[in-house]
Amino acid sequence: MTDRADAEGRLRARLAEVEERLAAQRRAVDGIVESARDSNADDEHDPEGATLAWERQQAAALAAEAERERDQLLAALDRVAAGTYGVCEVCGRPIPAARLEARPAATRCVEHAR
Ligand SMILES: [Zn+2]
Repeated sequence: MTDRADAEGRLRARLAEVEERLAAQRRAVDGIVESARDSNADDEHDPEGATLAWERQQAAALAAEAERERDQLLAALDRVAAGTYGVCEVCGRPIPAARLEARPAATRCVEHAR
């Protein structure tokens, strides 16, 4: 069984990492928007503008991914507080500790993971 304090500590450490990544990605998106404005690029005809648009899209996708991960970690911390952390939401059995170590925000056991 995973100790509750261990689980919370691991989730908070992961959350700090994700928030850092999220902030960095948001800065990257802003930076690309800035340079696109400075270069006065035309997305359709200027190859540089098209590259910037693509880079902005990638950075925005990574930011969205970090945001989703942050939300999952916050939900997991709620489950720790509620005492339901580490229990599969499908079968109600404990999620193995090794799986929780690899994926602290997991809500399902290996068998019921999609
Ligand atoms: Zn299950």
